[in-house]
Amino acid sequence: MTHIDGTAGLDRRLADALERIGHGMRSLAQRTAREHGLSPLQQQAVLALAQQPQARREVAALAQEFDVTTPTMSDAVTALERKGLVSRSPGADGRRRSLTLTVAGLEVATQLSSWDDPLTAALAALPDADRATTLHTLLRVIADLQRAGVVSVARTCTTCRFFGRDEHPDPAAPHHCHLLRVPLPLTALRVDCLEHETAGTPAGKRKQRTI
Ligand code: SF4
Repeated sequence: MTHIDGTAGLDRRLADALERIGHGMRSLAQRTAREHGLSPLQQQAVLALAQQPQARREVAALAQEFDVTTPTMSDAVTALERKGLVSRSPGADGRRRSLTLTVAGLEVATQLSSWDDPLTAALAALPDADRATTLHTLLRVIADLQRAGVVSVARTCTTCRFFGRDEHPDPAAPHHCHLLRVPLPLTALRVDCLEHETAGTPAGKRKQRTI
C-alpha cells in the first residue's frame, strides 16, 4: 500500500518542485534564445534593457541583476553590439556607458517578451486566492534567501524598508506600504518596485522619491 507521509519531507518536495520549475524555465530560455541567435544571458540582457529604468541600463547593473561577473556581462553586451541590437553612449557621469536597444534590438525584445508564456499560462489557470498566496509565499522565501546571501538583487515588498508586515486585520490585504501609505493586498505585492529601498538603507544613501 502506498504510504502518504503528510508533511514529512514537505520542505524537500517544495524545494525539488521549485528546482524542477527552474530547470524547465532555463531549458525554455535556451530554446527561445537560440531561435533568435542569442545566448540565454544575451536574451536576459535584451529583455532587461527593454524594461529597466535608464539608471540600470549599464553593464555593471546588468551583471549584478543576473548574478554574473562584470566581464561576463560585458562580453554578452559586446556580442549584442556586434549583432546590431545594442548601442553604448556616455552615461550621465561621462564615464559609464549607458546601453540602449537599437530599433532591431527593440524588435527582438518585443518578439521575446512572450518567451515565458507557458509559465504565465499555467499560473493564470490557478484560482485568484491560490495565486495571491503563492506570490506572498515566494516573496517571503526570496526575502529569506536575500538575507542568507543567496539572492543578490531583490526589489520586492518583503525586502523593502517601507514594508509593514501584518498591520491590517484583512487577510487579503494584511501588509502596509509606508511610502505610498496604503494597505497592500497580497495580489498587489511588488516583485520589482521602482520605489524600493532595501531595509536598513542608511539615510544618506536613500533615493529621492519619484512618485
Ligand atoms: S515602496 Fe514599493 S516595494 Fe516598498 S513596500 Fe511600497 S510598494 Fe512595496
